[in-house]
Amino acid sequence: MSVAFHQRIQEALLDERLQKALYAATGRLMEKRKSGVTTDQLPDYQELRTHANRIKRHTLENLDYYLETLTRNVEARGGHVQWCRDAGEAQVFIGQLARERGVKLVVKSKSMTSEEVDLNEALQQQGVEPVETDLGEFIIQLARQRPYHIVAPAMHKTRQQVADLFEERLGVPREEEIEKQTMIARAVLRKKFLEAGMGISGANFLIAESGAVVIVENEGNARLTTSSPRIHVALAGIEKIIPRAADLAVFLQLLGRSATGQPLTSYTSFLSGSRRPGELDGPDEFHLVLLDNGRSRVLADREKRQTLYCIRCGACLNICPVYRRIGGYSYPGAYSGPIGAILTPQFLGLQHEPELPFASSLCGACAEVCPVKIEIPKILLELRSEVKKAEAREAGWNLEPSNVEKIGFGLWAWLMRHPRLFELAGAAAQILLPADRDGKWLRNLPGPLQAWTRWRDFPPPAPRSFRQLWRTRRKAS
Ligand code: SF4
Repeated sequence: MSVAFHQRIQEALLDERLQKALYAATGRLMEKRKSGVTTDQLPDYQELRTHANRIKRHTLENLDYYLETLTRNVEARGGHVQWCRDAGEAQVFIGQLARERGVKLVVKSKSMTSEEVDLNEALQQQGVEPVETDLGEFIIQLARQRPYHIVAPAMHKTRQQVADLFEERLGVPREEEIEKQTMIARAVLRKKFLEAGMGISGANFLIAESGAVVIVENEGNARLTTSSPRIHVALAGIEKIIPRAADLAVFLQLLGRSATGQPLTSYTSFLSGSRRPGELDGPDEFHLVLLDNGRSRVLADREKRQTLYCIRCGACLNICPVYRRIGGYSYPGAYSGPIGAILTPQFLGLQHEPELPFASSLCGACAEVCPVKIEIPKILLELRSEVKKAEAREAGWNLEPSNVEKIGFGLWAWLMRHPRLFELAGAAAQILLPADRDGKWLRNLPGPLQAWTRWRDFPPPAPRSFRQLWRTRRKAS
């Protein structure tokens, strides 16, 4: 584990206020999700997950066809499609477009893809002012931070901290009431919407058969971003594509519920190209920026390709026992939590973020809540294996198991085949491995086992083994 990664984790763990806020906020989202997917609310929830998984698999297996179809349909409606290989190309294209059109101010709706390519910094360097219009994003932009959570970017901020921030950065009287803070942001942003020459959005889905960009949101700011300025740029990863509008019905039922427990978000916008003759609103120009940035590499790997099924609902973050403790800023890059642990190293290359696949307890909760059934733990294990193999290659180590490992595993297998001895070994462990003072965790294992407790605790042997409990219960019944 790199020192920086470890240090960020330590800082988050030692921050008591953050620990409470994070645990409470993710817990609330988890509860909402749980009540949104009950059998009463959504009787065919499991079928929908399977269906969504199939649609994504089919689309990615035929991505070239659907991308061409999408491009044709966007262009047929007067839009322009720009393909960008990496973050740099996306930054240059959007920045250049803004400068060529004389745009000085850009309004943005929430977009994790724009965070991925560091678009705000790039625009600022090119003399264009970007303004985030989603309330959470607006807050973290003022704080000069990055999103803490895929769905709730300012989850880690208390209303008192927001009051301080607004007072300092906006020069308004200190206001702790959330409704009043919202009104302050609204007043600032209304002016920006009217002044901006360009609106930049992300895309939750791209419909190949019609060329439509679909955006789901709760605040209405994405609608203003995409319709008020004269130029609309939608920045989207190539994996956001789905074949037909009919497929959207599957994803819309899953996305809102998995993210916030809502059957449907307040606004679902379908945007098809620029304003046509006779239409009252919409932009004069529409550009769809299709971003690769490592996605083709992920697509080429048949096992790990499913990473691209993600619809960014954030459910895996809320349920992850690791994310709930270490929080969003422990993870490098734009994406955090279990999806970040598999997405970032694959997008950037494992050599950049080798510790990320290890930031997991492999409990499997993320896979259970994922609405598109991504097998996150399986991908984490594959990435771990790749990291270890690369390290071994670099150090010139033999990848064959050492004699110590062979003897150790041989002994373990032998013990497992002899129940009585296994039980005796369990009893010995109870005596030899005493728990810490709180009786909950072992913090210092002996000998080579220390490698485990150097970074994490180990549960002590149970006071009564499974076999003992089994015998007692059988006797009782
Ligand atoms: S991996 Fe699954 S649960 Fe996590 S954000 Fe993506 S779709 Fe949601």
